[in-house]
Amino acid sequence: MGLGHSGSTFLQLLLSSHPSIIGFGEIALLLKTLKNQSAPFDLPNCSCGKKPQQCEVWNKFLLDYNPNMTNKELYLSIIKLFQVHFPGKILIDSSKNLDSFKEYYSTYDKNLIDLKVIFLSRDFRGWINSRKKNNKRKNRKDYGLLFNSYKWFYRNFRKLKFLKKINQDFLSINYETLVFNTDQTFKKILHYLELDFMEPDLEKACTHDIFGNRMKNDKKKNTKVYYDHKWMKENNTVLLYPLLIPPYYLNKKLYSSD
Ligand SMILES: [Zn+2]
Repeated sequence: MGLGHSGSTFLQLLLSSHPSIIGFGEIALLLKTLKNQSAPFDLPNCSCGKKPQQCEVWNKFLLDYNPNMTNKELYLSIIKLFQVHFPGKILIDSSKNLDSFKEYYSTYDKNLIDLKVIFLSRDFRGWINSRKKNNKRKNRKDYGLLFNSYKWFYRNFRKLKFLKKINQDFLSINYETLVFNTDQTFKKILHYLELDFMEPDLEKACTHDIFGNRMKNDKKKNTKVYYDHKWMKENNTVLLYPLLIPPYYLNKKLYSSD
C-alpha cells in the first residue's frame, strides 16, 4: 500500500527475486481496465514478455473472464489461479489504492490467506518532484507545491487511519531507505514475511505484471535504481515550513517507523 510514484515497481521486482515470492502487479488496475473493455482485450504486455493472452498465468483468467462477475469474485479467482500455479508461494498485489483495498479486504478469508501489508512511503519532497516530472512528461497540469504536499499528506493519512481502524498490522518502508540501503530493507521485509534471507538479484525476479510503470518490462536496465536527488537541493519547502507542518510531521513519523 502507498502512493503512486513511490517505488512500488522496484519493490515488487526486489521482492519477487526471492524464490518464494511472485509479483502479479496492480490487480485492482487490471480488473478496472477489463471492466471498461470487452473481449478481445487490448492490454499491455505482461512483464514475462508475452501478451497477456499468451501468458501462462493470465491466458486462462482472460478466457474465463465473465463481465457479470463482481470484482470480489474476480479477485478470488485470481487468488485461486495463483495457488494452482504457484502452490505454497507468496503473491504480491502491488495495488496501492485505498478504495480497492477496502473492497477486496473482505474477500480475504483469514483462515485461508495470511495477509501482510507493506506500507511504502516516499519523502513528500521527492514524491512532489517525481509527480511534477511525470505531469510535465504527460502534459498535465501541476497544482504546485502546497497542493501536492497536502495531497501526499491526506492520501497517506487516510490509508494509515484505515489500517489502524481494521487493526491490520503492517510494515512501514521508505523508498529512500529502500534505494540507499537495499539489502538491509530486503532483509527486514523477508523477516516480516517469515522468509529466509537471500541476496536480492533483480534479474531473477518472477513477475506476471500487466500494469506497472515503465520499469516492469526492463529488469536488466534497472538492476541499479537511479535516484533523483534534485529535490534535496531545493529549499522551497523550507520557506513554506509554517504552512507545511502536517506533511513534515507525517514525513518524520513515517521515517522513524521504518
Ligand atoms: Zn506473464
